[in-house]
Amino acid sequence: MFKNLIAGEWREGPRVIRNINPSDTRDLVGEYAQADAAQAREAVAAAQQAFPAWSQSTPQQRFDILDAAGSEILARKAELGDLLAREEGKTLPEAIGEVGRAGAIFKFFAGEALRIGGDVIPSVRPGVGVEVTREALGIVGLITPWNFPIAIPAWKLAPALAYGNTVVLKPAELVPGSAWALADILQRAGLPPGVFNLVMGPGSQVGQVLLEDQRVAAISFTGSAATGGRVAAACAARLARFQLEMGGKNPMVVLDDADLGVAVNAALNSGFFSTGQRCTASSRLIVTNGIHDQFVAALAERMQALKVDDARKAGTDIGPVVDESQLAQDMEYIAIGEQEGARRIGGERIATNSAGAPGHYLRPALFTETTADMRINRDEIFGPVVSVMRAKDYEEALHLANDTPFGLSAGIATTSLKHATHFKRHSQAGMVMVNLPTAGVDYHVPFGGRKGSSYGPREQGRYAAEFYTTVKTAYTAA
Ligand code: NAD
Repeated sequence: MFKNLIAGEWREGPRVIRNINPSDTRDLVGEYAQADAAQAREAVAAAQQAFPAWSQSTPQQRFDILDAAGSEILARKAELGDLLAREEGKTLPEAIGEVGRAGAIFKFFAGEALRIGGDVIPSVRPGVGVEVTREALGIVGLITPWNFPIAIPAWKLAPALAYGNTVVLKPAELVPGSAWALADILQRAGLPPGVFNLVMGPGSQVGQVLLEDQRVAAISFTGSAATGGRVAAACAARLARFQLEMGGKNPMVVLDDADLGVAVNAALNSGFFSTGQRCTASSRLIVTNGIHDQFVAALAERMQALKVDDARKAGTDIGPVVDESQLAQDMEYIAIGEQEGARRIGGERIATNSAGAPGHYLRPALFTETTADMRINRDEIFGPVVSVMRAKDYEEALHLANDTPFGLSAGIATTSLKHATHFKRHSQAGMVMVNLPTAGVDYHVPFGGRKGSSYGPREQGRYAAEFYTTVKTAYTAA
């Protein structure tokens, strides 16, 4: 049994959860301890005790530990990628890529620990000096979703630790394996007891403690908009700092002048890969009339050729949906799309994989002849379900792209510099892609969105310092 990490000790919880492989639901990945509220409070107490020493540790100490963790993650990429694919259901190459990203993030923030600087600014008054420095916040609570089981914990943990905070991580219930591996690696990399605590367990209990405990200075949350709203309310009530990364309904505009191959590849990748379970997935394709029929025909042909199979089998393009309830949600939206009058291609449930194993398999679905008011174009489905809308010209396409409560990522396929430039400027999304999939981002630059997708400072890259540190302005009489 895999246990929680509290104050440097591996601890059993009052309950155990079974981690099941969505590619073969007979396969048990492992049994993982589930903490309760009392254990979550113990983890907070451990983080509180560890904070004074850790926040005063040298940049070299923090560099060494984060760098060692990054090296181990990279060295074990294949093995950790296999675990990730097995518990989450993304394909093996995607899972190994995600693990590589986590390793690179630790390396990046190891370097950032050495580069924490400040400003020395001349005062407007004679005989006074002004210094602006960054300090750690204290205890940071991290709450993460199931769709990037190692990368998201990594991109919160690495900056939190690099800037001298102590941490309590509550990963998603469905994917405890990758988070446990990360805890094990950090523990062996030499983190002092209590600096990093792992409490696996239900959001409503363990997560809730982090939101409500006055000792937790800040919460970094990634997950659904519904849970994000609860995080915001709880943190605002006690004036804790918080950062939310939530859903998306990301548009990709395809203009008449697009390179058809580029447009189809980008739409195929960002709509269906990782089983459409990416917050940056393009679920709305907005296509101008001149290229519409050609584009839809080419995309539908490529989509139908995608192999849906066991995530760890060589040659699989799309693994299973993560679990039964997400599968039910995807299928419900497929039914809603039909009721709304959209034309459906694909989207059939498959009971078993090519080896006959039962799993949560779903063929990718494309809806055509859809309109902006349909629920399939408004709600985040979070599955391999994509809809196509027609636009008469670029202006209408831009309007449709921005006509959403979300604003995470947006893309355009065009060979027009004028339209690409205008779109970069006028898209109401935090990340804009030209002739690239809307999903798939670098690890050293800011990540995040606008409107209903995000709240608070950006994650990743040097911008992470905005959330994980607080600024102090010191005045000294000369
Ligand atoms: P979720 O909101 O159901 O759960 C996210 C986390 O919150 C889990 O760890 C869960 O246990 C916890 N939680 C649930 N209730 C809680 C409570 N009352 N108090 C504290 N914590 C609680 O989301 P999910 O289904 O795991 O993930 C899918 C969602 O995540 C999608 O909406 C997707 O778009 C979003 N997502 C966003 C980004 C981004 O960066 N914008 C990245 C990945 C995923």
